Amino acid sequence: MRVVFFSLLLLPLPALAGPAILPHLGAPDQLAPGGGIVTEIGSQAGLSQWIETFRPRALAEGISPDTFDRAFRGVRYNAEVIEKDRNQAEFTRAIWDYLDRAVSDKRVENGRQALLQNRRLLQRLEQTYGVPKEVIVAVWGLESSYGDNRGDIPVIEALATLAYDGRRGRFFEAQLIDALKILQRGDVRPGNFTGSWAGAMGHTQFMPSSFHAFAVDFDGDGRRDIWSDDPTDALASTAAYLAKSGWQPGVPWGMEVTLPGGFDYGLAGKGNRIDCADWAALGLRRADGGALPDHGPSALLLPAGARGAAFLIHANFRAIERYNAADAYVIAIGHLSDRLAGDGPFRAAWPREDRALTAAENRELQERLTAAGFDTGGADGKIGPKTMAAIRAFQRNVGLPPDGYPSLDVLKWMR
Ligand code: CA
Repeated sequence: MRVVFFSLLLLPLPALAGPAILPHLGAPDQLAPGGGIVTEIGSQAGLSQWIETFRPRALAEGISPDTFDRAFRGVRYNAEVIEKDRNQAEFTRAIWDYLDRAVSDKRVENGRQALLQNRRLLQRLEQTYGVPKEVIVAVWGLESSYGDNRGDIPVIEALATLAYDGRRGRFFEAQLIDALKILQRGDVRPGNFTGSWAGAMGHTQFMPSSFHAFAVDFDGDGRRDIWSDDPTDALASTAAYLAKSGWQPGVPWGMEVTLPGGFDYGLAGKGNRIDCADWAALGLRRADGGALPDHGPSALLLPAGARGAAFLIHANFRAIERYNAADAYVIAIGHLSDRLAGDGPFRAAWPREDRALTAAENRELQERLTAAGFDTGGADGKIGPKTMAAIRAFQRNVGLPPDGYPSLDVLKWMR
């Protein structure tokens, strides 16, 4: 489903088409922080007015008056949706906390069950799309806990509320129009047209735009039904999504590696893709001690900086990124799929004594870096490539390992 507000710590979202929304981990609320952030609240009257102004825009996009009026019957302002949107914008979580939940023993165990129960379907999907069954099931596991948490909020209501609210109004209005087109085509019955708070739908939480781009009718009944209890179309659509995003059969997403003593952390980061043989010459090994296999040009990712696990990431990392651009999400999908295939947990320890910087602290860090002459390209509280480059430059300047990681230590140094 989702874009590109990625940050190592601010778990973002999604994706398939748009702005940041938190990966669901099954239950959309599971990760919601306590305590709502209350800002301006809209109203039913405001929404009704907005729907009137939206109607001609939707009709101009080819939505029939009949579809439009049926779709909006009973739609009300949904305050819960707005509260979740506000919370998510300020919410941060360390990658190890995220991975603990994303790849819990229970999720691994339930995933193995799901593999068994859908063996024949998954085999056909693997043959058709070239995407391993464990990867398809890992997406299913993270997005809806294998279908248990598909979301029960009416899609039109959620998207209309978010479009009217306006924080990311243009994105959600486009999604709303795509949602109306789904109704108009008859892929779903209005009563089944539900999803999570931000409009992500079905077993693998497609946004409406992703549905139009990637959904398939794999069981051949004439409807691309990603909402029903039967996951056939949803899982096929997920495999199609990854295949169209450039999935390369036979290549893993990445692998955990160890670095030699005295390693130059300035080589890490997605911008530096070199051959596995060159990484091997620099002293990288598989985390289990073995030699590095050749999986083409690869980058070194240090999601918690110099002190956590290190990953060499291959071409398929980017295919999963198209689904959700958060590094933590992609690592979780990759790791869960490896666990489902029989691999063990990561070997390196995370710096669990650290905590993630809050969005406010990220902004402070960006402001301080910029003031000190290390340009972060603005102070939006999200750690992107520019901020990481600025952190690296600062770290080099003061003699710290230049891992580009926004740690509390770096912030303290800056203060
Ligand atoms: Ca179908």
